[in-house]
Amino acid sequence: MKNFDFLNPDNLGKEYKGFILLKIEDVPDYKCKSVFLRHKSTGLEVFHLIKPDHENLFAFAFRTVSKDSMGAAHIMEHSCLCGSEKFPLKEPFTTLGSQSIYTFLNAMTYPDKTVYPGASLVRSDYFNMMDVYADSVFFPKLTHDTFIQEGHRLEMDDQGNLSIQGVVYNEMKANFTTFYQIANDEILAAMFPDSYPAFSSGGDPADIPSLTYEHFLDFHKTFYSPDNCCLLLYGDISTADQLDFMDQKYMRRLEQKYNCTADVPYADQKLPYVKPEVKELLKLKKLDKSVFLEKTAPEQGATGNLAVIAKYTGRPDMEKYFLGEVLLGNDSSPLAKAIKESGLGDMPYTGNFGQFLEEFWVLGIGGIKEGIEKKVFALLEKQIQKLYKKGVSQKDIDSAVMGIDFNLREENRWWGPYSINIMEKALKGWVWGEDCTSQLDPITKFEALKERIKSDKQLVQKLIKKYFMNNEPECRLIVRPSADYLADRAKAETALVQKLGESADKEALKKDLERLHQNQARVETPEELACIPHTKVSELEKTVDEPKIELKTIKGADGSDIPLFISDEETNGIFYIDVLFPFDRLDPKYFMHVPFLSNVITNIGWNGERWDKCIAESACLMGDVWGRILVGSVYDAPQCQELAKKYEAYNFLGRKWIGVSGKALTQNAKETLELLARIITKMDFKDAARLKTLIQEQRAGKKASLVNDGQGLAFKRCTATWSEGYALAEILWGVTQLYTVAAYKEKDAKQILKQFEYIYRESLKAGGIIHVTADKDSLAKLMPMMETFAREAGITKLLPSKNYKLEDFLPYVVSAENVQGDHTKEALKTESQTGYSAVVIPGSQTLTKEAASELVYTNWLNGHIMWEKFRTTGGCYGAWAGIDSGEKLFKLSTYRDPDPEKHSDLLTDCLEEAAKTSLSDEDVEKAIVSCYGDAITPATPRDRGKQAFETFVYANNGLKQQRVDRLLEVQLKDVQDAAQRVVQNAAKESHKTIFCDKSKESYGKNLDLPL
Ligand SMILES: [Zn+2]
Repeated sequence: MKNFDFLNPDNLGKEYKGFILLKIEDVPDYKCKSVFLRHKSTGLEVFHLIKPDHENLFAFAFRTVSKDSMGAAHIMEHSCLCGSEKFPLKEPFTTLGSQSIYTFLNAMTYPDKTVYPGASLVRSDYFNMMDVYADSVFFPKLTHDTFIQEGHRLEMDDQGNLSIQGVVYNEMKANFTTFYQIANDEILAAMFPDSYPAFSSGGDPADIPSLTYEHFLDFHKTFYSPDNCCLLLYGDISTADQLDFMDQKYMRRLEQKYNCTADVPYADQKLPYVKPEVKELLKLKKLDKSVFLEKTAPEQGATGNLAVIAKYTGRPDMEKYFLGEVLLGNDSSPLAKAIKESGLGDMPYTGNFGQFLEEFWVLGIGGIKEGIEKKVFALLEKQIQKLYKKGVSQKDIDSAVMGIDFNLREENRWWGPYSINIMEKALKGWVWGEDCTSQLDPITKFEALKERIKSDKQLVQKLIKKYFMNNEPECRLIVRPSADYLADRAKAETALVQKLGESADKEALKKDLERLHQNQARVETPEELACIPHTKVSELEKTVDEPKIELKTIKGADGSDIPLFISDEETNGIFYIDVLFPFDRLDPKYFMHVPFLSNVITNIGWNGERWDKCIAESACLMGDVWGRILVGSVYDAPQCQELAKKYEAYNFLGRKWIGVSGKALTQNAKETLELLARIITKMDFKDAARLKTLIQEQRAGKKASLVNDGQGLAFKRCTATWSEGYALAEILWGVTQLYTVAAYKEKDAKQILKQFEYIYRESLKAGGIIHVTADKDSLAKLMPMMETFAREAGITKLLPSKNYKLEDFLPYVVSAENVQGDHTKEALKTESQTGYSAVVIPGSQTLTKEAASELVYTNWLNGHIMWEKFRTTGGCYGAWAGIDSGEKLFKLSTYRDPDPEKHSDLLTDCLEEAAKTSLSDEDVEKAIVSCYGDAITPATPRDRGKQAFETFVYANNGLKQQRVDRLLEVQLKDVQDAAQRVVQNAAKESHKTIFCDKSKESYGKNLDLPL
């Protein structure tokens, strides 16, 4: 038993502790082996991707499907995390999150499943997490209090006013606020009428209050059974150890709970098993004839109507990915270009909806004028016909192949470990009863497709016919922004509150709320919290890894020494390059234009060629090329100042940069560098027609993301007068930038280009630097080419900065005119169903004991008072405390906040309450461990290079070990002092900004957002 070899085919069909080994497979595309097992009495299925990666991941996934929008799946996801049999705490996940070394800790609701993944680099931590997760999903308490806290309830304030509250209720209100979110839902609903994608798996606030506690409990019974669970494992902890853990801690309890007395009849079935009732729910209903629909959506985020054609394309397929890249992969791709150049709208809306087993194409344009929808449909049809008849160019095919090859080779960490991406792919097959590995061979599939691309010159046309000209029914949909949309929803909500209020038993309600509020306010004792074990500071590895970077010099175009930064990382045959020029010798009046300029530079053409030809050329050669900005400051901590002194003569420290970045396969290095040099030196600023399109897109993009960017905008705003660095951030990316973007007029395109050319050329004249991230083999190939590149790209000696101060930037920060009352408070107003608040107060200098203590303190706050006051009680989706010790700041914020005005004051008030709370040594130890976890979170090779470079040019590199040393030295007394210091600092100075709906009462200074 001990030596059961899971990878030995002789063991297929045999069992290990009740788990039958059903499949062993190679997963070469992800350099893994995999095993698939089923527990014979409970039916629990396990799929382990075995790979020598220390960052282990597990995920408990359940097929959860609803044919209503009451949000049961989502409310269940939240509620499972609110206490379980073995961990009877208010929020074991939050407790876990505030004391463990995780690299991923979250839960997600999808339309067809709910997934609870966790990942850690530390074995003991991994099993601690797995224990809490398993108990939470299979044995949650699901009390009535939890249901009304996370789901919905009638809430009564001191004056007896009623409202509907609930964490999910408020979270989803924020989801129903912007145009494209709603438009997206409308398309899904149209394409899969009456089946689960047509309903909101997260819950529609209009329907959530209809969910009863009984229905909620039933939902758990139906879907959270072991025979509906997919347990995915990834990493280097042995299959045996993981199954031992499940066997010892869970399998007996599960057998008992689900009364599993015999083996399940499908115990040795090789494919995943899906319960018949769930299979029925998972069935997709498609349109049986073509339809034309007209819908409305909120105004927020829209620049006009949206018109789309949607058409079924069948199962997930590499062919479709390829065809999409050929036709739409970049701005110069034939269909993308036709849409952009039509001038009909400003928001191309195209792509394959690949979330479900049945997929569909969407082709459309947003931001169009009323009445021209038919023109949009006609244009799209005509273009498809034309492409089918004439085919596409070899360049379009080559660039698609390059793009896909590149994407399949590059490792990313969009929102957690790379294994999360693999997990999503595996679950796609698994949830629907197909092989777990059925979606895990994209590279193999693409290599096969490449052979067909080579041998069949008509392939693209055949695919166009197959996917766009098939006889599948289609949906034509027009979505119009409506000023009444949110108002109508608000009215309906008021009516619902009234109705619920009338039928409610006020006395019972009062009792319910009293009990809930008491529970919420109750602080758990250390004895209670002890049920979740934690890692000790003494167990932590003291030496931490920090990416290295090397500084060399090479001869530039003027014969002088040019700084070249080299990051040696495992990039898998890819190289990343940044070529940057300082723009800080210009007058600050130009700085506001740098963001749009950086967006324009690689998109407008060079060397006398049209922009589309240029983009096509670069797409055939490179993974991507883009304009980039890098700004920052050298902090005044002595360690940073010392580094600054050391490199002073180079002139690269603390500069504000604009430039070009790119990524490519090293095999194309020579041609890529030649092209980059051409882009940099031969940039054209002549194509006013192209700039007009880019202006529209810039505006539409900013508008579409306005509400989602709310928290960032609020923070930039409340730090705008803090320091030179923050003032610049406000000008480049904050509310001030929204005004800049709103002021770009298409008719001024020529003038704008002239100004852009001036900024760009002046920056180039000021000299430049180069940074390369690549693996050893790539570097060996690249280094001999760098001097030629520097010469051809015209890079010269760096001239010194003008060293601007805060006062030089302030005149360019937009100020609020409508001031009523308090100057330290500001409200950013737009149409939004959700809000944010941000507060900053002075903090301690980086690399000091004080800063480390404040960091530990914020970690404790986040796991305790912030969570309790704002999420549990306040109905916010999140609330967070943090520091920016480089800028000597202590920061507080709420996220998706139903009442940002009230909460922005509560943020500072609760610091006083927190300072009175007596912390224990253990509290502090847990918080240190958690901060340490953040510090050692792995990064991709590309990001390691990026971090090392960005810290180097701001004299902040090589200091991570010192930071961690300070952190590990923090004592209880230091944190107590930090708590007192923060309260005193807040009394001296604080800046507050909220982001809220325009109908809210005024709040200090008021600023209506443009766009
Ligand atoms: Zn949620």
